Order: sequence, then structure tokens, then C-alpha cells
Amino acid sequence: MQDILDEIVATIGASKERGKVADYIPQLACIDPNQFAITVALADGRVFSSGHSERLFSIQSISKVFTLTIALGKLGDAVWSRVGREPSGDPFNSIVQLEHENGKPRNPFINAGAIAIADAILKGHQPKETLGEILQFVRFIADDDSIGIDEKVAQSELVTGDRNASLAHFMASFGRMKNPVDWVLGTYFHHCSIAMNTEQLARSGLFLVDNGRNPVSGTRVVSALRARRINSLMLMCGHYDGSGEFAFRVGLPGKSGVGGGILAIAPGKASIAVWSPGLDEVGNSKLGTEALENLVQHTGWSIFG
Ligand code: GLN
Repeated sequence: MQDILDEIVATIGASKERGKVADYIPQLACIDPNQFAITVALADGRVFSSGHSERLFSIQSISKVFTLTIALGKLGDAVWSRVGREPSGDPFNSIVQLEHENGKPRNPFINAGAIAIADAILKGHQPKETLGEILQFVRFIADDDSIGIDEKVAQSELVTGDRNASLAHFMASFGRMKNPVDWVLGTYFHHCSIAMNTEQLARSGLFLVDNGRNPVSGTRVVSALRARRINSLMLMCGHYDGSGEFAFRVGLPGKSGVGGGILAIAPGKASIAVWSPGLDEVGNSKLGTEALENLVQHTGWSIFG
């Protein structure tokens, strides 16, 4: 495994065609695109890394997997009255579909869906309290108490977040926001700004590898049924309008973020985190996807055989 990862870093990680860093969030626009890291956390507890696996990056939309998990824990199946579970086929920040479905986002991973989930888990609590809860959960599943929020990124999102504010207000116009919109947005921007490295991120996905139980610590995080459902949503919706392409090329449940990270789950085998800040046209890590495609070719981990 170490040889495979070193080879990926030496070849794909050194590619000149790196994609473009997200520039609509100023704090992400200044990230050096020449960084690359990959970590594989195996179900048996062994962890392999190569590249800049100790460097922190903004996990962005990958945090939506964690907030969905928390929402399911708090609300159970009532979550599905707030968001659907169909691929959107539209860009991650699209507003068009909301108009046709009474302001109900198609899935929890597009921006509108994750904003609706943030509203659901706030449940009248102060954003600070809810953010504390989200952080506590992420630290628990990653087994690392040092994980925190990059406040500069959060502020940067806040001052340039007109599109996300529009989505939230549009949903509110259908009576779908139960908390003040600025609380919901503040919570959303801050959880997107959680900073992690690939080692922490790979460990945080382990509960989705072994039917809802962390195979290393033995701790149960969610039920087997819930883990399976979260994986299915990651496969169908985790890469927005690039989800079909990701399933075709990689064949694993995965969730991307505009910080250039991807968390991918090989059920029964491993949790994989990759980071390369340059993005493709639909906002997914360009070299990160190539790295996962290569890893799956070497390991045969695609869920499609
Ligand atoms: N915080 C980002 C946004 O709201 C998340 C987008 C993403 O990672 N795809 O635009």
C-alpha cells in the first residue's frame, strides 16, 4: 500500500494539469495548488499516507456528510421531510430546482440541502452551541481532539456568501427555515470551514467502512442501515453534477469539497482521504479524482467489482 501511494504522489501528484483553485471564496483563492496528499485508513487499523498528509485544509462540503449524520441522529427519518435523496444533476450552488419542488432541496449534499440540514440541527439552539456539537462529533469519529474551525475561511465565506444567502432566503420564502436565516448561514459557513488533514479525514470516515462501527476502536457511531444509506447518498450525490462521472471512474461512495479534498469509502476495506486544491469544471478535485481512480485500479476496491 505504501508503494502504491508513493507512486501516486510521484506521478499524479506531480502533474502539471492541476485544475483551478476555488476563487469565489477569497481565503481559498490564495491556497498553493502545488500541494497533494493521500491517506488510506484500512479497516484493520493500519494507516498509510503519502505527500503533504499533515497539512490542514478546508474540508468544505465534506462536512455535509457529518452534519447529515448528526441530523439523522437527532431527527431520524423526519430528515427526509426537509431534503430529498435524489441526485440533482445541477451545480452545487444551483437555485433552479428549489422553485419546482416547493423549496425542498433534492439532496443533503448540494448547498441548499446542507443549509436545510443546518437549520434542522439548530433546532432553536444558538449557532455556537450547535457548532460545538458538530466539532465534538467530528473529533469523536476522527479520534482527534485537535480538530478545529478556520475562522478566516468562515469569515471569508460570510462576506462573499450572497448565493448561499439567496438559497436560504428562497427556502425561507416557502416557510422552510425554522431558525433566523443568519444563524443558519453562520452555522453552515462555519462547519464548511472545519480544517483537517488527510490523516484525520481518513480516520473520520472509518465508521462508514464497517457498517456504522469504527472497526479500530469498536465504537458504534450509527446503525448499519444508516451507514449504508449515507454511503448510497455519497455515491449518488457526493460529487454534485459530477457524481455519475465519479461513480464511473472510481466506483466508490465519495464526498468532495471545494477546498480540494475528497473522502471516499471502500466498504469493508478502507476509508480514503485525498487532497489536491485544484478543481475540475464542476468543482471537484481534479488530481484527487485521478488519484482515487488509480488507487481503485490497483486495489480492485470498486463496489461494482
Ligand atoms: N462552503 C462552500 C459553499 O457554500 C461549499 C461548497 C463545496 O464545497 N462544494 O459554497
